[in-house]
Amino acid sequence: MGDSSKVSAVSLAAGARGLHATGSRFQAVTLSTTATSFPKTHDKIENVEDTPFFIDNKFLKSATTEYIDLHDPATNYLVTRVPQNTDAELKAAVESAQRAFPAWRDTSIIHRQQVMFRFVSLIRENWDRLAASITLEQGKTFADAKGDVLRGLQVAEAACGAPEFMKGEVLEVAKDMETRSYREPLGVVAAICPFNFPAMIPLWCIPIATVTGNTLILKPSERDPGAAMILAELCQKAGFPEGVVNVVHGAHRTVDFLLDEPAIKAISFVGSNKAGEYIYTRGSANGKRVQANLGAKNHAAVLPDCNKNQFINSIVGAAFGAAGQRCMALSTLVMVGETKEWLPEVAERAKSLQVNAGFEPNADLGPVITPQSKARIESIIASAEEEGATILLDGRGYKPNGYPNGNWIAPTIITNVTPNMRCYREEIFGPVLVCLNVSTLDEAIELINANEYGNGVAIFTRSGPTAETFRRRIEAGQVGINVPIPVPLPMFSFTGNKRSVAGGGANTFYGRPGVNFYTQLKTVTTLWSAADAISRKADVAMPTHS
Ligand code: NAD
Repeated sequence: MGDSSKVSAVSLAAGARGLHATGSRFQAVTLSTTATSFPKTHDKIENVEDTPFFIDNKFLKSATTEYIDLHDPATNYLVTRVPQNTDAELKAAVESAQRAFPAWRDTSIIHRQQVMFRFVSLIRENWDRLAASITLEQGKTFADAKGDVLRGLQVAEAACGAPEFMKGEVLEVAKDMETRSYREPLGVVAAICPFNFPAMIPLWCIPIATVTGNTLILKPSERDPGAAMILAELCQKAGFPEGVVNVVHGAHRTVDFLLDEPAIKAISFVGSNKAGEYIYTRGSANGKRVQANLGAKNHAAVLPDCNKNQFINSIVGAAFGAAGQRCMALSTLVMVGETKEWLPEVAERAKSLQVNAGFEPNADLGPVITPQSKARIESIIASAEEEGATILLDGRGYKPNGYPNGNWIAPTIITNVTPNMRCYREEIFGPVLVCLNVSTLDEAIELINANEYGNGVAIFTRSGPTAETFRRRIEAGQVGINVPIPVPLPMFSFTGNKRSVAGGGANTFYGRPGVNFYTQLKTVTTLWSAADAISRKADVAMPTHS
């Protein structure tokens, strides 16, 4: 990543033309990055430009006076300003999606599949561009940002199987009578995304929502919307008609608008419990379908018979990768028996990780998202000290050469933690590993099941029966056996449990349940009676299926 080209988020197109959308005139702009030209350094951007919104396949400049400043987490230089879209702009997005729906619903599934094939291919062509936007705005390393894109790309690839998963069923239920089921789109749907996977989470929503025939309004995180804007451009290039995918911006106001807008039939949300529980409640009260994936506290139970080296590498990668800002970060160790003696070795390996700006080739983890997030994480570390835990490895105060102003926290390990401590009760969402000690597998299971979250869990053991007992009794939704981050690929679904998912986990993202979420089943029962032409007697009894 040696090239020091500085490319800002957008540039006004030469001769930019106004767009007539629902009576208002918005100024059209274009993204200034391309598949081969995009930022590759953390240098200060000289001409910072505002992030546009996207309606009717056009990038538009907001007329708002309210912006959210977005800073590079490695330097805190300003990268772009994200508009809080005005109500008129939000309304225009809804109207665009409403206008587009009837024709998109009526396109053949084969046509929508072809659009999805092109979308997949464009994501591959723009993979580095998307990853670079993530590194600049979110802070994760370039290699890890490529993985963020890949995990979303895989959902888009799976969505290409739409002709198969949109098939209905048919059964002859009585003589001359059959029932068929059809899967129909819901209409206009919305997605509200978190900051930590700027490409993957929009891609959990865009492909399945659209290939099933819905039109979508996406609200990326106001902290890093750049990847979503690139995806919007790729949607347009892939052949999505105007209005099928729209992108709007803002914080709570935009969310409230989407929750209260009657034309929106379903909301997909990924983010924190605070926002998600509110969104689930208000969206459901307004009669919308809501799928909501929330926060986590993922545990690993470590058994003395495990492959120690594999365990240490796994935990160091899964606790500190992406600076711990993954909903499936393995942030809590439950050391069974003598395995607590291994913690100094875990600390040694964690210390060898390179904390640096994401475009630096040696970086293993980058900064955390904002100075406020850094302050919150540091306050949790301090609380652990005050509550009697031991800071075995302290990452506070670290600064890599050349980046004195980033939001840095190096890997931190807190040991002798007990369940009543704040560092155990709260999701930390930073490069901090908390470690508890227990004596037996039973105690480990009891401790983990008592935790209110249930996103992911892992066990490290070489015993099949031990792993099987754990698998049966553990209440977390995604279980790894010697696998630290067991996120299922899109032929399965993302299956969080307990408070890690709203609504008891009835709706889950991607896979077959994802298709169910975005479609309404309709059953049609038909009678083409062979006797119709000649019968003169009414049938008054219920069919007997004889
Ligand atoms: P967040 O809840 O702060 O923000 C998510 C979205 O909600 C953003 O678009 C934001 O604008 C909006 N929002 C935030 N607060 C709101 C409020 N009070 N009212 C209305 N809207 C609001 O989450 P984040 O910090 O961006 O993301 C990190 C969180 O997401 C972590 O808790 C993480 O565990 C969780 N997460 C969960 C999964 C999963 O699949 N379970 C995946 C990724 C992230």
